[in-house]
Amino acid sequence: MSKKVIIYPGTFDPLTYGHIDIIERGAKLGDQLIVAVSLNTGKQPLFSIKERAALVTSVVDQINASKKTSLPVLVKSFSGLLTDFATEQGANSILRGLRAVADFEYEFQMASINKRLHGELETIFLMAAEQQHFVASRFVKEIAIFGGDVSSFVPQNVSLALELKLKATK
Ligand code: ADP
Repeated sequence: MSKKVIIYPGTFDPLTYGHIDIIERGAKLGDQLIVAVSLNTGKQPLFSIKERAALVTSVVDQINASKKTSLPVLVKSFSGLLTDFATEQGANSILRGLRAVADFEYEFQMASINKRLHGELETIFLMAAEQQHFVASRFVKEIAIFGGDVSSFVPQNVSLALELKLKATK
């Protein structure tokens, strides 16, 4: 039987505990989870794709070390159409996280478009965890810009990277 490969795409600018929760839960849904860091120039990310992928990788390394999943979670970067990347990776489904009502319309549209582009590809949604449903990369960046404490929203490597990045861009 073929391997069930799931792709979790996102900008991850930067990775938050909300994303990490989806990665941990999503990794149990199939045989292999690929966290796909999108170039996404449209969002004008604060961190480069290389920096974002490196931050995700160091957290995923810890998840893999705990050996809770059958195959290690992979981290890859991509640009262009998600459906093309998914085909290239032999993925059967896309994983997305859903926070409150605000995410629904955009996610519903994206899932429908991706389905039109690639009929075999299903989008799976996981509801945000109760403790993480308000956590968003956008707010984390705003809090960090104004010198607030982001330690309850992001892991230590991310808060350190935010501090350094904001110092460098001042
Ligand atoms: P994108 O630019 O593709 O929306 P994001 O990095 O903002 O990338 O988000 C990637 C995915 O993770 C999206 O499906 C988003 O809804 C989900 N997500 C973001 N924050 C959370 C959170 N706190 N809880 C659950 N899912 C989340």
